[in-house]
Amino acid sequence: MGMNVQETLASPLVWHPQTPQEAWQLKQTYGTESIYISGGTLLRTFWESGMAAMPQHFIDLSTIRGLRELRIGEAGFLIGSQATLQSCRTNMLLQRHFPMITEAIRTIAAPSIRQLATIGGNVACYIGDSIVALLGYDAEVIWFDGIAEQRSLLMNWLQTGQGAKHDDKRLLLQMVLPFEEMEQETISSDEADKLSSQMKRFGAYHKVGRREGFTPSVATICINGRLTGSGVIQHIRIAVGGGQTVPSRLDKLEKEITGAIVDNQLLQHAYERVLQLYEPREDLFASAEYRKSTAANLIAAELWKAVRDDT
Ligand SMILES: Cc1cc2nc3c(=O)[nH]c(=O)nc-3n(C[C@H](O)[C@H](O)[C@H](O)COP(=O)(O)OP(=O)(O)OC[C@H]3O[C@@H](n4cnc5c(N)ncnc54)[C@H](O)[C@@H]3O)c2cc1C
Repeated sequence: MGMNVQETLASPLVWHPQTPQEAWQLKQTYGTESIYISGGTLLRTFWESGMAAMPQHFIDLSTIRGLRELRIGEAGFLIGSQATLQSCRTNMLLQRHFPMITEAIRTIAAPSIRQLATIGGNVACYIGDSIVALLGYDAEVIWFDGIAEQRSLLMNWLQTGQGAKHDDKRLLLQMVLPFEEMEQETISSDEADKLSSQMKRFGAYHKVGRREGFTPSVATICINGRLTGSGVIQHIRIAVGGGQTVPSRLDKLEKEITGAIVDNQLLQHAYERVLQLYEPREDLFASAEYRKSTAANLIAAELWKAVRDDT
């Protein structure tokens, strides 16, 4: 059945920019009457539930050239913001080098949604489940500010952008995942081989929801680190998020436990510091206290597993 004239006039106009500059210009022109749209899967939930009104102009980012690629670049592994969650999940290089990201994506929505939803949309909404895993790998983001491409650590980008409104929203182009390097520059290759054989990498991603399956997260954590042969933490990243909380790194805790041996005292310290440092938002389904203790238990348990598996 065709639309009548009134319906046609009320329907949003969809713009198809070819470059970030064109997309940016459209956003400047139409301001709050417009929105960037990638897969549209999250936005649709806002409109259907009445959480937000549908604006008059859609700026479709999927037509910008070159933003769907997943490839190795000079700075690390590059993920275009328009790559679908499904293409990320099935990418062999991402699976091999950054498995916690493919694991995080596995827990996002259902396969039919993942075919449309993009990783850029997941990150740009500030609360997506992939963010916690990306923080665990110290990801950077490349975004466009209207003049040039800017590069920042994802953790900084989240902090500065979380209060931003739709009209000044930054245009996310790519995520960059640095490849891990051992600190080997000053030692011989024999020593480096010996050191790396003694070193143990550990990592885990957990999303705890209210039930099994495609459910909003109560707490999501990612832990990624290295232990020496004697169980001393040589390097660690700890990221937390869940629900409506913008994910963050627990960088104070990371610094406090780097160089320390993982024992009961350290586990107790880590548990208590997560309760102090993590500030989740509560909602009707879970209190802030419950979210904190879930995250603290997950992190302490992963540290314990890392050293236990070592003995
Ligand atoms: C049934 C269902 C279940 C879901 N389950 C989960 C879940 O378990 N975990 C989860 O994290 N999410 C979930 N989602 C939410 C959503 O599907 C994902 O977060 C998805 O990755 C969003 O991507 P998108 O391309 O569809 O974003 P869109 O809906 O197109 O956009 C999301 C937001 O990001 C902005 N945006 C998009 N791309 C860019 C860009 N490149 N630069 C700047 N801003 C941009 C848009 O303006 C909008 O504000 C679910 C959604 C549905 C419908």
